[in-house]
Amino acid sequence: MPKRILVTGGAGFLGSHLCERLLEGGHEVICLDNLFTSQRSNIEHLLGQPRFEFARHDVTSPFSFEVDEIYNLACPAAPGHYQYNPIRTIKTSFIGTMHALGLAKRVGAKILQASTSEVYGDPDIHPQPESYRGCVNPIGPRACYDEGKRAAETLMFDYHRMHKVKIKVARIFNTYGPRMHPYDGRVVSNFIRQALANETITMYGDGMQTRSFCYRDDLIEAMIRLMNTNDTITGPINIGNPDEFTILDLAKKVVAISGSKSKIETGRPLPADDPKQRCPNITIAKRELGWEPAIKLDVGLKKTIDWFRTVDLSSVRAPTPNY
Ligand code: NAD
Ligand code: UDP
Repeated sequence: MPKRILVTGGAGFLGSHLCERLLEGGHEVICLDNLFTSQRSNIEHLLGQPRFEFARHDVTSPFSFEVDEIYNLACPAAPGHYQYNPIRTIKTSFIGTMHALGLAKRVGAKILQASTSEVYGDPDIHPQPESYRGCVNPIGPRACYDEGKRAAETLMFDYHRMHKVKIKVARIFNTYGPRMHPYDGRVVSNFIRQALANETITMYGDGMQTRSFCYRDDLIEAMIRLMNTNDTITGPINIGNPDEFTILDLAKKVVAISGSKSKIETGRPLPADDPKQRCPNITIAKRELGWEPAIKLDVGLKKTIDWFRTVDLSSVRAPTPNY
């Protein structure tokens, strides 16, 4: 049955794809975003559609819509973006989620929180299951994001226990794909931009740190499945691709797939508190959602590189100087 659905952060990388998928499913979609780390061009193709509405708004101020479901994605996600104004970041995570939950409570909507693998910090258990409580430095430069997302999870479960709000918490691991912000400073976008310009690939540290990269279509599919599972399934549920790669492996793949002449230069300073290993245990997602990623890194990178080739970088606004 068609539903009315609010997507906060709906103009962003993941949010804009989610809006597309929900529209394709026949739903009415309200996209709420302050365009901090995104651009109107991400949703321009949706603006004329009768079931799509855009509201430019900051989630740290209250908002109200009659909706059946809320996907709460509003929050800068790339380290360079969330560290630019860390106080705004933690406010966005905490106050934004509180406003979204208040709305869910008032109108009886189900709410899904886009949480993150960063709740595990620099983990000492590998791969990370949902039961792992994490190893986060609460006073470091990543804390505005990590602790903001942890507090948002706390709010979700307290609204659930106190007010019976129907909640879903997705812990998202590194996700990539077309429409990533080219200047978000994240590893996939940096390496692809550098490779396409035949510039030096900037490796922080020795490149032996690992990440597990999920293609955006796999991720969006899992989020929609999670929202539509039985109400007893609250999560948290890890959503990510368990294929783990070193950052050096990633650089080599990007150079090879793009046919670049770039040299890979290791030894740049590692960012503070950079997690050494990250890989999701997705046993629960497999069991509860019947989901596992279908798109291998080589295939997803090729699609992403092909998209980057079409982007006119001069038309893209860098949200912060930190890329
Ligand atoms: P993104 O930066 O492209 O999207 C975030 C969106 O939120 C942007 O459109 C931005 O303008 C908007 N936003 C930021 N602050 C806001 C505010 N105060 N009010 C209203 N809108 C605001 O990032 P993304 O990669 O699409 O991430 C979406 C969500 O998924 C985030 O909550 C992020 O924490 C989470 N997540 C993403 C990843 C990933 O690898 N992409 C991993 C873990 C979690
Ligand atoms: N990284 C890198 N070079 C870059 C950007 C990132 O070596 O130009 C490394 C970074 O130190 C980290 C990994 O790549 O170990 C992933 O970084 P990203 O910022 O994409 O996301 P994170 O998972 O750290 O939030």
